[in-house]
Amino acid sequence: MAGGVLILTVHGIGPAPRTLDPDEDRTWVTVERFEQGLDAVVGRTDVRLTFDDGNVSDVEIGLPRLLERGLSAEFLVLAGLLGEPGRLDAADVRKLHEAGMGVGSHGWAHRDWRRIDPSLHAQEFRDSRRALGELTGRSVSRVAIPFGSYDRHVLRHLRRTGVTRAYTSDGGRARPDSWLQARTSLHADIGPEWIRNVLDGRPSRSLRARRVVARGFKRVRG
Ligand SMILES: [Zn+2]
Repeated sequence: MAGGVLILTVHGIGPAPRTLDPDEDRTWVTVERFEQGLDAVVGRTDVRLTFDDGNVSDVEIGLPRLLERGLSAEFLVLAGLLGEPGRLDAADVRKLHEAGMGVGSHGWAHRDWRRIDPSLHAQEFRDSRRALGELTGRSVSRVAIPFGSYDRHVLRHLRRTGVTRAYTSDGGRARPDSWLQARTSLHADIGPEWIRNVLDGRPSRSLRARRVVARGFKRVRG
């Protein structure tokens, strides 16, 4: 088993309950694939689960299957889209929290933080976390970066506003206690073999090399 932790990201599960954004359908998985993924991580202390985007499938499909298997996960929610069609509402977020799941922020409205107007910074970086904190009664200090799109400016804003963990979508494994943590997304065409390879940390050598270069570049660009 490779070192560090492997953090998986789930977006949507089952039939999409709303019109998906361009390319978003690539990240939806069938219930069957999702269950295969969960079954494969039971007992794996080196694997963590996160859910992005606050889709209703988080509570309707994800939560009961996590609980059945004694698994927990962290749900990174879009505070500004709560209650929109196909999304979690405030009661759902409370339900996740009360079930022992972690709740973090994915920003306000799923905007690309590298490209937003500075007038939106307060809403994306502070209001989103405050709103979720009020819902759960806990301070919310972990965030998942929308689209995995970041540069040194984005990271600086996150550090300045007191974020204690920032999740990317860079793939590969992460150090368990690091501030910036890479994750690997489940996607529509995964099969049992993909799950096995990812869990065993066996991306091809060239893929690993590309990731290292991309990550170094993202941290400093801007
Ligand atoms: Zn997202």
